[in-house]
Amino acid sequence: MTSELHNMPKPHFRSKEEKQLMRFYEPLVLLHTLGRSRGDRTQNSVVSTGTFSERRKFLNNLAYICDFNTGGDTVTSIALQDCADGPIYWVASNSEKKVLKSHEFLMSVLSDLSRVSAESAEPSPEHKERLATELSEKIIVFAKKRINGYRSHLRTVLPRAIDYLQRRDAVENSDILDWLNSWRTNVYSEDVCRLAYDARRSENIRVLRNLGEKQNRSGNRDSIYNILHSVRHYIGRLGYHFCVAKALLNSARPLATLLTSYEVRIVAPMPPGEMPDADSKTKLDGILVRMMPNNAVALPSMQENLQAMDDKFGLTKRYLELYTDRKYSTSDKRRSAGVHAEIKVLEYFFTQKFRFVDNDKFIATSKPSCYCCHLYFKHHPLMPSEPATHCNIYLNWRPPQFVGEHFKNSVRDHPRHMLFAMIPDIRQEALQQILERSPPRQSHPDSNTGITESANLGHASIPDLSHELERLSLAGDIASCVGDYSDDIRLSDLESSDDEEGGGISLLDYE
Ligand SMILES: [Zn+2]
Repeated sequence: MTSELHNMPKPHFRSKEEKQLMRFYEPLVLLHTLGRSRGDRTQNSVVSTGTFSERRKFLNNLAYICDFNTGGDTVTSIALQDCADGPIYWVASNSEKKVLKSHEFLMSVLSDLSRVSAESAEPSPEHKERLATELSEKIIVFAKKRINGYRSHLRTVLPRAIDYLQRRDAVENSDILDWLNSWRTNVYSEDVCRLAYDARRSENIRVLRNLGEKQNRSGNRDSIYNILHSVRHYIGRLGYHFCVAKALLNSARPLATLLTSYEVRIVAPMPPGEMPDADSKTKLDGILVRMMPNNAVALPSMQENLQAMDDKFGLTKRYLELYTDRKYSTSDKRRSAGVHAEIKVLEYFFTQKFRFVDNDKFIATSKPSCYCCHLYFKHHPLMPSEPATHCNIYLNWRPPQFVGEHFKNSVRDHPRHMLFAMIPDIRQEALQQILERSPPRQSHPDSNTGITESANLGHASIPDLSHELERLSLAGDIASCVGDYSDDIRLSDLESSDDEEGGGISLLDYE
């Protein structure tokens, strides 16, 4: 194939474990080369009514407020262990350091909610409003970095929206221009979130929606349809902090059994590990052979297809760039990868043989899961509820390791069995694309903040937000929020992945 291989090291001895990891990463990197986004977003398994539903919303909201920054490190997962003395909230973050802060905040919020749940009578509307204000302010202060991220995104799209409205003379009066300009001013985070919450049913939001609906839906980042939707989305995001506070307070009394006697604990750390490196044998042709059955009749035609795709799309170059990327490396030697939060919680429950409350094998996570985590859940012997996913591949993903004599053989072998269960799906998807000679797929961001990303990336496009809005209803967590949020609240459903590193992990902790 190409000269890129000339710089690759010669093959060296690899342990059995390393070879097994290579069997996983080789097709995974190939699949990423063929397109990082492997499908449309999906949502949590929906349970529409009853205690299960209420509890899942509650846990989703708790996970959400614990994720205090944009980026992957603070992605937080929570699950409830069933114990005789009361439930235990188990919490994990992508980053082992960041989870300490989230754990402390979770304890504090649960303590507040516990007091509400213990009140003998339903709080008066005035008292409720006061409680909601106090809790939302607490959430906003904790999530200041995240909120600043939303504000930054909003400031990016506002000039384009204002410019459009001015140029097109699209509005009959200037009120909406003044209103849009008001979002560019610097006010305290609490105030801007309150303004956003109060704006959710305003005439200006309605005007923006109506103007947007008159535009053609488009994936183009410059489409006014996307610009207007983004303005509404980020205002919705900012206002959501009040919404989630109200939702949590509304859940407190119905879920009093979860707030009477409980503990909050951090899942034991699951350290990152090294990924196998590439060598001069890391060739697409060889990988293809290893992905297909022995003596496969279709091998020659698949090789021909892959070669044709390589010639046209430069797959080898891209593959090796991805495989040898040092972006996430913790040293200058080897690439390293970490265990994502939802898998930490899942495996902790599995290996410790914990029971989920009501046997509802649900793990709440603050952002949709990545492609690999979703696949991992899908094949896990515990048969947990499948998480929402943005279907993006993160190559710094890895399964947990259970090394040491204190683990039974069955536990030590478990990650290997999981990889073996996942590999056929990955291979199948890559082979199908090679069979069809489909070009590498366009990547979509974990969320619609593609506006900002695209601005940095020249002509990259972003997904049609309206499409995403219709598809995503991540938050049943939102449904129990103030019931009058109407369709504007669906803007907030786009949450959960407000940044390009949504499912990732920087691993900076481990340096
Ligand atoms: Zn993941």
